[in-house]
Amino acid sequence: MTINNLAESILPKMIEHRRYLHMHPEVSFHEVETYKYILKYLKQYDNLKIRENVGGKGLLATFGEGHPHIAIRADFDALPIQDDKDVPYKSTVDGVMHACGHDGHTSTLFALVDMLSEKQASGSLNGAVSFIFQFAEEIQPGGAISMVEDNVLDGVDKVYGQHYWSQYPTHTIKAKPGPIISSPDYFVITINGKGGHAAHPHDAVDPVLIAAEVITNLQSVVSRQISPMDNAVVTFGKVSAGSAFNIIPETAEIVGTVRTFKPEIKDKIYEIFQNEVEFTAKKRGANGDLYYNYGYPAVINHDAEAEVIEQAATELELPFDTAKPLMIGEDFSYYILEKPGAFFFTGSGNSDKQSDHVHHHSMFDLDEDAMVSGLSMFMKILELEQVIKWN
Ligand code: MN
Repeated sequence: MTINNLAESILPKMIEHRRYLHMHPEVSFHEVETYKYILKYLKQYDNLKIRENVGGKGLLATFGEGHPHIAIRADFDALPIQDDKDVPYKSTVDGVMHACGHDGHTSTLFALVDMLSEKQASGSLNGAVSFIFQFAEEIQPGGAISMVEDNVLDGVDKVYGQHYWSQYPTHTIKAKPGPIISSPDYFVITINGKGGHAAHPHDAVDPVLIAAEVITNLQSVVSRQISPMDNAVVTFGKVSAGSAFNIIPETAEIVGTVRTFKPEIKDKIYEIFQNEVEFTAKKRGANGDLYYNYGYPAVINHDAEAEVIEQAATELELPFDTAKPLMIGEDFSYYILEKPGAFFFTGSGNSDKQSDHVHHHSMFDLDEDAMVSGLSMFMKILELEQVIKWN
C-alpha cells in the first residue's frame, strides 16, 4: 500500500479521536482529562517508552533507539471560546472549544503512533521516533519551553511539526526555509492624567488626547523606523477611557500587539515604545506606563528540513506552495531553536464543509480529510529521514 492509502485506511480512527477531543476541550494549562486520554492511548503499546509529566502536563513517547532520532510534535490545548457550530461533535463544555485544530494535531499523531507500532514490532525501524504531545500552546509561557527545559529533546536529531490551516485549501502543503511564523508581543500602555470637568480642560490633564497622540506616533514606527526589508506589525486592538460625555477621565489604556521576525527588530520597537510612552506623557504633564511582554520567538525553519518537507509533499503529489510567513505565534519555535527542524501548514479549508472559518473563530471546524495529508506528510518525512520504509 502507498503511504496515502495507509493514511486513508486509518482516517476513521483519526476522526473518532478528533471528535472525542473536540467534544471534550480543555483550556491551556488545564488539560487534565486530555492528558489522561493521551496517556491511556499510548499505554496500549507495550514497546512504546513513555515519559509522563514532561515539563508539566507534557508527554513524550518513543519507539526504538539510537539514530537517526526524529521527533514529531502535536499540541493538545483548546481555547476559551463558545462553540457555535451545529454538529454532532460540538463541544460539550460551555465556553471552551478546539478552535485552532489542536484536536486534529493530536489525532494525527495518534495515527502515526499506530502506524509505527507495527513497523517497530516487525523490527524494521532504523533508529528512533519520538512523539511529543504538548500542552498549553495558546497561552504564554506555553508548554514547549518547559518541555524543552525538561529535556524532551534528549538524543533527538531533528524535530518536525505542523498546523492544520483553514485558510488554505484542504491537502495543500505550505512551508519555506527561514522565517515562517512571527513573534507576537503583547503590550498595555497606561496614561495616567488628571481627571476633571469636561468644561475645564485646562484644570485637568486629558489622558484621552495623550493616548490618541501616542497611538498616532507609534503607528508610524513600522513605516519610518523599520527597514522596508524587515517585517513588523503594530496593532492597537483595544483603547479604553472615560465614563461619561462630560468628564475628563483620570486614565486611558491602550492594548495591542507587535509582531516581528528578528529579535533585534523587536528590541528596537520595544525601545521606541518606551521612549514614546514616557516622553509624550511627560510633555503633557501625565505619567505613561508601559507593560511590554515578549511573545514566543519567531518560528525560523532550518533550510535542510524545510527542503525535506517540500520533497515529501512533492513525492506524495500533494499541492505544495512556498509559505508566506504568517504574523501569528507558535511556540514550536523553542524546539527548533534547540535542534534542526521545520514546521509546515496543511490546508484544511473547504467551504463546502464550512471548514474555512478563521482560526480562533466560534464556527471553526476542521476538514477531517486533511488529516490524511497531515499523516502522510509525517510518514513520508520519516522515510526521507531514513528511519523507516513503508513498503
Ligand atoms: Mn494553534
